[in-house]
Amino acid sequence: MQRNFHDYLAAWREIFPRPRKIRWAEGRLFNGYCKDCRYCCGPQDDPEPFPMALLPGQIRSDLAEDFYLLSGDTAYIGARGCKAVGPFGCRLEQAKRPVTCSLFPLVPANGGLYLYKICPAALFSPLVLWADMGRAVATWLAGFNAADLTRISLSLTEQRLAERYIYLDIRLF
Ligand code: SF4
Ligand code: SF4
Repeated sequence: MQRNFHDYLAAWREIFPRPRKIRWAEGRLFNGYCKDCRYCCGPQDDPEPFPMALLPGQIRSDLAEDFYLLSGDTAYIGARGCKAVGPFGCRLEQAKRPVTCSLFPLVPANGGLYLYKICPAALFSPLVLWADMGRAVATWLAGFNAADLTRISLSLTEQRLAERYIYLDIRLF
């Protein structure tokens, strides 16, 4: 059964009685919640797949060993979770992970930057921190070429954005 925002909030409150540290550095988000969460790499109760586009330099012939694929260059997370997750988290080196994984819960979508509000780090960290980190991430993403940036940006409906995302008022393209 699909859980809603408040179901997740209640679950995260049990697991995370105190805030943990998050920071953006070296092109990835270091998130103190992840090791006790693993929500976004695991099986999803959401019927809509979450696409994770790969950059041209990440395309390889054995992609299907590490990902469930929507197409030859786009992995996704769905009811089976991600193939790349192991008992201690992601088993892929950073360079092989979709860019999305390095940013999450910050999510490029519809040309802007959003915060995925069901993530415990999103819920228990101040919005001001996400706003500042979002701007640092946008500066980093500005180094991408336009085609790659467009590729990794999701296309989401207004309803979807309202259900799961907070807009940080940051345009990427
Ligand atoms: S949902 Fe958030 S805290 Fe949980 S594993 Fe994903 S990024 Fe980490
Ligand atoms: S590639 Fe790794 S970090 Fe990304 S969703 Fe899969 S297991 Fe998680």
